[in-house]
This record gives sequence, structure tokens and C-alpha cells, in this order.
Amino acid sequence: MARDPARAFAGRTLCIATMHGKERVVAPLLEARLGVRCVVPPPGFDSDRFGTFSGDVPRLGTALDAARAKADAGMTASGTDLAVASEGSFVPHPDAPFLQLGAELVLLVDRREHLEIVGEDLTTETNHARRRCRDLDEIRAFGQRTGFPDHGLVLVLGDPPQRVHRGLRDLPALTAAVTDLQRAAANRDVPMFVSSDMRAHHNPTRMRAIERAAAALATRAATPCPGCALPGFGQVEVVRGLPCALCGAPTSWPRAFLHGCARCPTRRELPRPDGRRDVDPGSCPACNP
Ligand SMILES: [Zn+2]
Ligand SMILES: [Zn+2]
Repeated sequence: MARDPARAFAGRTLCIATMHGKERVVAPLLEARLGVRCVVPPPGFDSDRFGTFSGDVPRLGTALDAARAKADAGMTASGTDLAVASEGSFVPHPDAPFLQLGAELVLLVDRREHLEIVGEDLTTETNHARRRCRDLDEIRAFGQRTGFPDHGLVLVLGDPPQRVHRGLRDLPALTAAVTDLQRAAANRDVPMFVSSDMRAHHNPTRMRAIERAAAALATRAATPCPGCALPGFGQVEVVRGLPCALCGAPTSWPRAFLHGCARCPTRRELPRPDGRRDVDPGSCPACNP
């Protein structure tokens, strides 16, 4: 491999293993920063078989497992030895359960060099939501909160899903889908659910998060390991314990960031980029339990 990590991928063909239009934001970024030529898999590539947000195809394993499986399938389908795939997860915020946390993972797999590089974005800026609904009025109220019609909606009958309508982006489509599900339920007591469509091409908020994760990936892919000079050096861990400004006790705030290599054991601890040395006693478990 070339010793200049910025050129490690230059001139190579990279498959963006997606079918939801993510290449629109990911391809220009990777082409400009890594010098790759991006392609998408041939028609018929079905990334939904690795799991869907609406739950009709469950995801097996972790987000990383799912992204790796997509990247592998993309390389095989397009005949490349370099691919990028992404996977999103949406969970209640661990510190504030009423907030949703969106995690985007963008993975680059280099089959030729046996290298994997990850870029991530964590954000509370997400419209991820799901609720039980009975009629069009409730669904429209939900849509007002989740950015419809710029953001799509999904309607599901039954749990587990018996019938699913995705990508609903206008009122006529929404009305037709509700009518269809009500007819399919045929007065049986089958619950109906509405959720935000999290697929990138129906969710501009998520598309922006994928773009940020891809930018983090590009930065990392262009950063050499100080130990072995392979590309892919970047953050692997948050070191918590920023001391309280009053009593000096460690808090849960990040004190430093541990950067590591994608392949060798080299690790470096980097201070906070904002230069902060302590935190307000309001966040201290000793001063403000
Ligand atoms: Zn304190
Ligand atoms: Zn290394």
C-alpha cells in the first residue's frame, strides 16, 4: 500500500452499497477527499434484505454487522474491492429518555488491504417516532410533528407487521393507505401504527446525519496511524472524568479522546478540542448529587 494515506484509495473504484439515494451526499464527498471513483451496485441490489426500519425484515446482529454485510454484498455485486455502507440506529437517549438519539455508522471496507474504517454521527436531531393510530386525523397530527410531507411516513397494520405502506409523501397517498389498512383490518381488532420513514431518500434530516458520518469517515481515512502509517487513525473511545471546578471529583463529562489505529494496537490520548479543563459543579455527582 502507498505510504501516503491520503492516496491509499486514490484512483480506485468504490461501491456505495445503498439503494436509498445515499450516494447523492456520500459520493461527492468521498471522491473529493479520497480520490476514489464511486459506483452504485447494479439494479436488483436489495439492501433491505439486511433489515428494514419498519420491522418487517428484522436486522440481525449489530449496526456494524449489518453495514459489513451490505458492504460485502455491494463489492460482490459490483466487482470492486472497496465499498462503503451505512446503517442507522434510533434509540431513546440514555440520559434523557424522552429524547431520541440517532446514530449513523458509515463503514468503509477495503477487501484488498483487509482494512475497515468507521465514521459515526450521533445526534438528537431526528424525527424518529412511532405510535399507534386509529384514523387519518391522528396520522396527520403525527405527520405535523415529524416533518410530513418533506419527510415520509410509514403505515403498518399489525404487530408483527401484516401489511406495510412506505414512502407516503402526500395526502392522497396517505388517505389511500389508511383506507387500504382499514379495509384489510375488516373490523377485526388489529392495531395500526404510524412511524416516520427513516429511509434516507424519504428523510432529509437523516440524510444530513449520513453526510456528517461520511465526512467523519473521510477525515479518518485520510489520517495515517503514527505507528504503522496505514490510513484510518481516529477516535475509538471517549475518556470520561472531566473534573469538577469546585471539588475536583471526576464527572461523566469527556476528559479526553482516545484515538486508535484500524489495524495495529497504537493508541494516543488527545485532549478536548475546546481546551476545557473542568466542568461546572452543577454536573458534579459530589456537589450536586
Ligand atoms: Zn464537585
Ligand atoms: Zn497502526
